[in-house]
Amino acid sequence: MNIEDNIRRFKEGLPAHVALVAVSKTKTDEEIMAAFNAGQRIFGENKVQEMTEKWERLTKDIRWHMVGHVQRNKVKYMAPFVDLIHGVDSLRLLREINKQGLRFKRDLKCLLQVHIASEESKFGFDPDEIMPLIKSKEIEELDRVKISGLMGMATFTDDKNQIREEFKLLSKLFMEAKNAMPGMTVLSMGMSNDYQIAIEEGANMVRIGSSIFGPRT
Ligand SMILES: *Cc1c(COP(=O)(O)O)cnc(C)c1O
Repeated sequence: MNIEDNIRRFKEGLPAHVALVAVSKTKTDEEIMAAFNAGQRIFGENKVQEMTEKWERLTKDIRWHMVGHVQRNKVKYMAPFVDLIHGVDSLRLLREINKQGLRFKRDLKCLLQVHIASEESKFGFDPDEIMPLIKSKEIEELDRVKISGLMGMATFTDDKNQIREEFKLLSKLFMEAKNAMPGMTVLSMGMSNDYQIAIEEGANMVRIGSSIFGPRT
């Protein structure tokens, strides 16, 4: 694995409207800096503590995205610096994010995670919860929460048609949501194994780990 080459390859290969999140969970400072030095600026982590430690150690020119499931009691650690929180899946979590945004005087950008996979285990709102939520008065009152878009993960399967159908559903929901709330501009879907399908179905942000950094041990 040559991380620099991988970053260059993605930068040249992705359409200009698609943002690349380099998912660096479990990866070392050296590996992250190799990607940074090849021009990558957005990095994704799935654990608040690991992300916070990396933020403290590394250059402040990195923009940190939280892509994993977020526990409410951990929001306070990332509130001072996090650039985008992808995995927001409850109103209680949104309230806590707002509270920490008020405390640190920062707008906190969030993506609502939508459950589109057939597996039980994956987190997220049900698709039919999204429109009522973004039209609700509650959301409007969360002054420091900026709902920037939607995020989803497809089923872990070799069935490309199933993956495509799941992304199509999320994409359709995104367009509907965006009409109701024009600040919603980000559709985060697609990982190493399925990002091409995701882009074909309308993703404008992809989260790539192993195709950049190699397999995680
Ligand atoms: C780990 C992770 C990724 C990256 O997965 P790869 O298959 O290594 O590209 C993307 N999104 C989320 C939410 C993840 O946890």
